Amino acid sequence: MPIYQIYCELCDRTFQGTTLQGLKAPERWVCSQCGCDAKLMDDKPAAAHPLENIHHKGCPCCG
Ligand SMILES: [Zn+2]
Repeated sequence: MPIYQIYCELCDRTFQGTTLQGLKAPERWVCSQCGCDAKLMDDKPAAAHPLENIHHKGCPCCG
């Protein structure tokens, strides 16, 4: 399950958001603390299941 780093400016707080397996990252995130819009720190998951994220830039087999 991908884990995303989400940042809320209002709370000055970074937290982790997850998606259900197989789903893309939501376009909109809501801070779990204040309920306001929060933003994605990175458009890529900070962590993913190893088997879901083997290939990437610089990968020996992908170039
Ligand atoms: Zn907040």
